[in-house]
Amino acid sequence: MSRYLTPTLAGLSPYTPGEQPQDQQYIKLNTNESPYPPSPAVVAAVNAAEVEKLRLYSDPACAQLLAAAAEYHGLSPDEIMPGNGSDENLFFALRAFCDEQHPLAYADVTYGCYSVWCNLMHIPSHILPLEADFSIDPTKYYGLNETIVIANPNAPTGLALPRSAIEGILKSNPDNVVIVDEAYVDFGGESCVPLIHQYDNLLVVQTFSKSRQLAGARLGLAMGNAALIADLNRVKFSLNPYNINRLTLKAGEAALKDTAYFDATRQKIMDTRAWTAKELANRGFSLTDSRSNFLFARTDRMEGGALYRALKEKGILVRHFDSPRIADYLRITIGTQAQMEALIKALDEILEG
Ligand code: PMP
Repeated sequence: MSRYLTPTLAGLSPYTPGEQPQDQQYIKLNTNESPYPPSPAVVAAVNAAEVEKLRLYSDPACAQLLAAAAEYHGLSPDEIMPGNGSDENLFFALRAFCDEQHPLAYADVTYGCYSVWCNLMHIPSHILPLEADFSIDPTKYYGLNETIVIANPNAPTGLALPRSAIEGILKSNPDNVVIVDEAYVDFGGESCVPLIHQYDNLLVVQTFSKSRQLAGARLGLAMGNAALIADLNRVKFSLNPYNINRLTLKAGEAALKDTAYFDATRQKIMDTRAWTAKELANRGFSLTDSRSNFLFARTDRMEGGALYRALKEKGILVRHFDSPRIADYLRITIGTQAQMEALIKALDEILEG
């Protein structure tokens, strides 16, 4: 670091993303991408004519994408804002609804970026520990005088709260924004989008990175009351008006319209998840009841870090977290059936060898 860096940034521990090897050397089960390619409709939409238009700026209003998203979600376009990944929308939301006087409440353990962004923006964190079984007790979020963010399903535990539990939190916090991060909701969670017209303090954030095969395109949607969305647009237009590039706008629109492909691929992931969970349980692993495109699993037979390294040596990348509470666990993205069979085979070799 240079001597010019501000003390805040010098003291900050930046987020460490999961490993992203750029070759095909590994079976990659570490950052919850889809093992399937984008819909053929996406491939067709990102065509040469669109590439030619890259010399022009993209539509800052993202009108065509918003029209498709509004139709899909039963909302109006002014109730939706696209972000460069849900990360950008979450960052914009924290910028809009939190500051030094307005803390952010969130769980420990949850998505690691929440705490990093709080540190970056001088936002005090109010950390609410998970229960012993890793669940979230919604009543602990009642009546907080703070902005709240809940990943539902949570990461890396995969556990989901029913919509009614989030509704309790919304009702008991009428003066605070409740952000529900639904990155994994399409794999068996219950979305809060249907509550948007009832609660003006609800902001739902979804992503195209997991269930729509577009992690590399960087696209997410923030959805909520039009006034909340106007607040987010205030941040976006101050910082990065062209936050969604032309190719991603086209890809996102096509992905939203191909509902058959979306449903077929997420169903395949859920089926493969059930198969993998059973195989792991048969081998004595403990697992949470994941509603996500990953499993959160541990075994008494080997420490989490050692098992992560042994799998990596066999060409399989999974995620291990240094955090003491979950150091025994691995987070394993659901890949194709063949990839999961390779994982089980590798585990058998490691644990029985
Ligand atoms: N929220 C959660 C809970 C996540 O796990 C992730 C990705 N790992 C994100 C948000 C960000 O996803 P993206 O920026 O790719 O949309």
